Amino acid sequence: MNSQDYMNRESEYGAHNYHPLPVVLEKGEGVYVWDVEGKKYFDFLSAYSAVNQGHCHPKIIAAMTEQAQKLTLTSRAFYNDVLGEFEEYVTKYFGYDKVLPMNTGAEADETALKLARKWAYEKKGVPENEAKIIVCENNFHGRTITIISMSTDPDAYKGFGPYTPGFITVPYNNIDALKKELKDPNIAAFLVEPIQGEAGVYVPDDGYLKKAYDLCKEKNVLFIADEVQTGIARTGKLLACDHENVRPDILILGKALSGGVMPVSAVLADDDIMLVIKPGEHGSTFGGNPVAGKVAIAALEVIKEEKLAENAERLGKIFREELRKIDSEMVELVRGKGLLNAMIIKPRNGKEAWDVCLKLRDNGLLAKPTHGHIIRFAPPLVINEDQIREAANIIKETILSF
Ligand code: PLP
Repeated sequence: MNSQDYMNRESEYGAHNYHPLPVVLEKGEGVYVWDVEGKKYFDFLSAYSAVNQGHCHPKIIAAMTEQAQKLTLTSRAFYNDVLGEFEEYVTKYFGYDKVLPMNTGAEADETALKLARKWAYEKKGVPENEAKIIVCENNFHGRTITIISMSTDPDAYKGFGPYTPGFITVPYNNIDALKKELKDPNIAAFLVEPIQGEAGVYVPDDGYLKKAYDLCKEKNVLFIADEVQTGIARTGKLLACDHENVRPDILILGKALSGGVMPVSAVLADDDIMLVIKPGEHGSTFGGNPVAGKVAIAALEVIKEEKLAENAERLGKIFREELRKIDSEMVELVRGKGLLNAMIIKPRNGKEAWDVCLKLRDNGLLAKPTHGHIIRFAPPLVINEDQIREAANIIKETILSF
């Protein structure tokens, strides 16, 4: 079978809920992936920042295979000998009292929303069923019915109503709008992405997160950070909130928590918040399974051992500097933090971001447009300086070829 055969088979038997770049991958190692014809590429998507530690990191794969041969799943009906080890490790790592393990990012977001509502009724005294949560325009938190109910993107919500009530939308990076909505005494929480990844890597003004956090504190409102995409070293610090020394009341993690080898997500909070959820009120069959626990510990160890946050910070600067040197009308703007970056493409001769990505692929680098005119560049954080310069050069040559 060749690439076309694989694509045809997916199209015939799979739902058409994605529009992938036409490339069929069969192998990955570090910053590289290979297609079924043996062509090698830089991976500049990293599975939407899940593969921060690089493809098939040997330490993470070893942890996974070792545990997989011993015990994979007990459900939470019984204890197992790994869950507590993971819980202790992850809470100490991020500095919280408690963790609630789930699988996907969307599930972790849902968990945080439930926590915030319950906390509002039990601790803040909001009347039952009256709690509201403030979210941001152009947010992306996943694909469940409740999460798309918070979305302002018609592609995400249109045709899927009726929607879950209880959300108020404010413009991102707008403190005054947030301040106004926080006057409502029934606000339970403010949910925010420290950088809006899916929206196109929108980096808010310096100080936005801190000001938002302080306003929330004034009003006894929980500050919830969705760091599913920005977290775990991607932006040059362990958490994107660390850039402003903000410690979220509820922290949502996913993706790179497993180094991209399986779905592992988590919600972290202190006792005052986390213990409002009682046995039987929330959970997941696979959440906190022993393989996930061992994988997550290894994935987080790799982040520290290989100094991936520091690497992202240093190479991110070089990368943006190189991209900003590209002398082309097609490049409207380059923005980002650490190794979460984006290039805004101005169409030229009918060629758009999609065409740029196709040509990047031909030239050995994989990236994907988001929202038509934005290309996100997010390589695995194990990339080194020579590789990032080589990749920047591929991007430059590609853009200049239009
Ligand atoms: N939250 C953010 C900020 C995300 O970027 C994503 C996925 O891109 C999610 C949540 C959803 O994660 P998942 O696809 O694992 O459900």
